[in-house]
Amino acid sequence: MCEIQNIREWYNGVRFRSRLEAKWAVFWDALGVRYFYEYEGFELPSGRYVPDFWLPHLEIWVEIKPNEPTDNARSKARDLLSATDKPVLLYWDEVIDPLELGRSPRSTMFWYVKGLSEEEPEALCLYDEDWWAWQECVNCGQIGVGYSYNDGNKIRSCHCNCVLSEYSDRLKAAYRQAQNYSFW
Ligand SMILES: [Zn+2]
Repeated sequence: MCEIQNIREWYNGVRFRSRLEAKWAVFWDALGVRYFYEYEGFELPSGRYVPDFWLPHLEIWVEIKPNEPTDNARSKARDLLSATDKPVLLYWDEVIDPLELGRSPRSTMFWYVKGLSEEEPEALCLYDEDWWAWQECVNCGQIGVGYSYNDGNKIRSCHCNCVLSEYSDRLKAAYRQAQNYSFW
């Protein structure tokens, strides 16, 4: 396992710590979603932490784990949300198109975001429920990630009168590109 963790993956001039991170970079590149890798570090109550990705236009953090996140990883995600007031996506396992695999093949993400739930206003932790997804605005073509029944939070960077859809050929193609990307 140690050997695997030490293998780094070059993609697009960046030396990623894991192939899964690089695959998500492929996914965002295919969609024109800008990202910064290991952009900024934080001293959090749960320890020092450099989140894997910052997506500046969507204003979200993304952390990629090989396996289901430990309690410590989840604490860091919560602390990062508290410290920065920006949502945190925590992915693991594989790049999965939830539409292609029938929506709930298995859990591959948590999402920490403020204010979407009255029960837990500070931080909401979601599994692969059928109301999160990467989505495309069919008016302006912007890509976002969000919550399917809260329009205000669906696409965080789009200011048009959005009609949002997960049923997007661009998204489908991006998932496929990331899943099939050959790194050598
Ligand atoms: Zn739009």
